[in-house]
Amino acid sequence: MKRVALLGATGSIGRQAIEIVEAHPELELCAAASGSTPLDDVAVPLKQVGGDLTELLDRAEPDVVLNAVVGFAGIHATLWALEHGVDLALANKESLVAAGELALAAQERGGGRILPVDSEHSALFQCLEGRAPEQVDTLVLTGSGGPFRGRTRGQLEDVTPEQALAHPTWRMGPKITVDSATLANKGLEVIEAHFLFGIPYDRIEVAIQPTSIVHSLVRFRDGASLAHLGYPDMRVPISYALTYPERAATPLPPLDFTSLTLEFSQPDVETFPMLALARTAGEEGGAAPCVYNAANEVAVAAFLGGRLPFLAIPDVVRETLAVASGTQVRNLDELLEIDEAARSTAEGALAAA
Ligand code: NDP
Ligand code: MG
Repeated sequence: MKRVALLGATGSIGRQAIEIVEAHPELELCAAASGSTPLDDVAVPLKQVGGDLTELLDRAEPDVVLNAVVGFAGIHATLWALEHGVDLALANKESLVAAGELALAAQERGGGRILPVDSEHSALFQCLEGRAPEQVDTLVLTGSGGPFRGRTRGQLEDVTPEQALAHPTWRMGPKITVDSATLANKGLEVIEAHFLFGIPYDRIEVAIQPTSIVHSLVRFRDGASLAHLGYPDMRVPISYALTYPERAATPLPPLDFTSLTLEFSQPDVETFPMLALARTAGEEGGAAPCVYNAANEVAVAAFLGGRLPFLAIPDVVRETLAVASGTQVRNLDELLEIDEAARSTAEGALAAA
């Protein structure tokens, strides 16, 4: 029996995870948490709405933590699992982006293993099979391009939250759906891949594959490339992470190759500057990825609340990054301060936008 602590149980990933756990007799929910939505309909011994997730994890003693919280709020749970040597099924990419160096140090001390749930990283993890970074030529993260693929900046001036929330291939929570529309999600994923697989940024590429059938590829140094294909359905990477290394069955139909057309193109980095900004923040390192993430969270919330135009999201992030540039992070307290300071800088930038 594997004991699963599910954090973010009321969200898009959380709900699908409950379905996976219910379908597998060898998986058992030992704890569930949400931010503010009641958990009355979740059958689980320990529940928590809001509050300190690490207290819940201390009591629950899970074998695996599925961190499906949205945003920086997931940071403590990520560090808890790595520090305690507990498997971390990681959907909450923001925590690894913001705390990359600290997370790797916690993992070094505690030995917690990260099983990526983000579909691209699950795909890369499966293609890589733990191979050493020197065998890898490049990681290629695929993305659908989001609902605004092919548009010009002029065509993005008046887009509404409702339009940004209409993702062509994935049904997800609002924050990541807006991130997909700005390509910030792919930017966060580039940084996530860097920390997960230890590959330098200049060997992590992004390719647009509009139907989201190819979930990512690895080019190896011998000229071979391995790709991961499947229908876009998060139950697959969730199940893979929770049942690792068993690769348990899911309800998905087998892939019908005869109906596929696979087209790839370059991302439009001029129209969608969030991808290039993430690369710059990742390469700068230190506090920069945390600042990028914090400013993006503030800007996305403002856009969803009707307080910021879509095209101003990268302006807020760029401005916040410029203010916080060069800061180093030595411990969690410093990171929490940097996150808070970046949020208030970003709030100031909203007013000017
Ligand atoms: P949702 O917005 O659908 O769900 C977020 C969940 O986090 C909710 O259960 C919410 O609870 C909970 N939550 C928020 N704040 C806290 C907190 N402080 N403490 C405890 N729980 C909290 O998001 P998604 O499921 O779409 O995404 C979750 C994470 O997974 C994100 O990091 C996202 O980037 C990543 N991801 C998601 C994918 C998807 O397909 N959805 C794909 C790949 C990655 P409440 O209901 O109370 O607000
Ligand atoms: Mg993804």
